Amino acid sequence: MGGGGLDLKPTRLVNEALMLQLAWKLVSEDSQWTILLCSRYFSNGRPIQDYFKSSIWCGIKPHIATVIANSLWVVGTGEKIHFWIDNWLGEPLVDILHIDPLVYINFTGLVSDVISNGALSVPFEVNLISTVVSMCSLCLQAIETSDHLFFQCIVATSLWSWLGNSLPLVFDVSSFYALLHSLPISCSSQLKDIYLAVVVHLIHSIWWARNNSRFSSNRVSLQAIQVWVHSLIGMSGGLSTGKCIVADSSILDFFKIATHSRLIKDVVSVCWKAPTAPWVKVNTHGSVIYNLGVTPSLII
Ligand SMILES: [Zn+2]
Repeated sequence: MGGGGLDLKPTRLVNEALMLQLAWKLVSEDSQWTILLCSRYFSNGRPIQDYFKSSIWCGIKPHIATVIANSLWVVGTGEKIHFWIDNWLGEPLVDILHIDPLVYINFTGLVSDVISNGALSVPFEVNLISTVVSMCSLCLQAIETSDHLFFQCIVATSLWSWLGNSLPLVFDVSSFYALLHSLPISCSSQLKDIYLAVVVHLIHSIWWARNNSRFSSNRVSLQAIQVWVHSLIGMSGGLSTGKCIVADSSILDFFKIATHSRLIKDVVSVCWKAPTAPWVKVNTHGSVIYNLGVTPSLII
């Protein structure tokens, strides 16, 4: 009254405040009406989408998200707290681990499930997930996914471009499928084996370096990975049973791989006798090895 007016609040705001209070009680209290509404309109700790018509629930439902977003559970017995989706750690586990809603919709565990003799006993699966969904061990700059680790990480891109320049070849690292289809088809059989060895050994070496950093705290330098990959490719190229051509020499030399040249058969002398008229004899000779070989020649 001192500031003038009757100090009357808009009824809309008063109604919203009361509905918010009801939403808070619904989530936090154990009484007959809260148990009834929760069993009818909640599933796995969250409001269901389709529900029986109710004027009360229509008023409360829009405020449930506000209550949940601004609440923190204090763990007692944990029987009412949903392990994955409720906020009992400062942030819901599904948000911490970046788990997709379509995945965690079926996560129904309670905190009470992991309390043993008054102490938390976190399942192995949670430790595993927190290990997988975490920072990249190679660059420490991004969330580790398979695409990031093998194709997008600065360490991986450096390795792919290093080998691409050495071969020379442009690796399409947009996906595993694209990578395998960026390998040349028209090449010698030994070179084909080498290309495949490049892909296999480089991916394996990235994984090896990642595991060293993560589990042994032993960071592997880019140069060390290059030396490791280079030696593995050289070994695989040497074990190849394929054959090479002259044009492969620079790649074979880079990896220090012995050439597996095609065998040249012994030269056999033959006698040639000109045919009698009206016959004309035509001798042809020549060969093509993919698109790099000799063009056919014709001798009459
Ligand atoms: Zn990275």
